[in-house]
Amino acid sequence: MSESQIPAYVDTRKVFHEGAAVSGNLSLKKLELFQEYLSAPVGSVKVELFFRIAESGQRQITGRVAASVQVYCQRCLAPLGIELADDIRLVLLKDEAKAADLEPSFDPLICEGFKLELATVIEEQLILCLPIVSYHSQGECANPLNYQVGSSAIDDNQAKSPFSILKKLKKTD
Ligand SMILES: [Zn+2]
Repeated sequence: MSESQIPAYVDTRKVFHEGAAVSGNLSLKKLELFQEYLSAPVGSVKVELFFRIAESGQRQITGRVAASVQVYCQRCLAPLGIELADDIRLVLLKDEAKAADLEPSFDPLICEGFKLELATVIEEQLILCLPIVSYHSQGECANPLNYQVGSSAIDDNQAKSPFSILKKLKKTD
């Protein structure tokens, strides 16, 4: 995939007839809705889109989105890096009336005008492929929630001793 930014918009009167391909990066700054699911607006989103008119006459958008972003771990609430990847299979429709005619592997994308905002399309795909909950791997949480609150010196000492961890586990049982 190219390292350049993808265009903000495509003209739906042109791209399908031209069989256009778009590939490159998409800045997280342009994905305000998706950002709300992240612990910080850092990471990368790579996009590859192909526009074509199928034999059925449907205007199809296929391709792939891959993102490397940070979310909150649901166990320790510290940032956690995750990788997202999803295939894109959309059919552009002017309204929802024809959505029932789609092949099952395609989802409808409603766009009434000629200007298709790519960030909006990608944002929706990214939000849909986010895991419902994300956790660090076992033992890699920064500061588990059941950790007792105390002075940092005590916490450090306890963290170093496997016995104190065992004691703590017994206590919480
Ligand atoms: Zn964690």
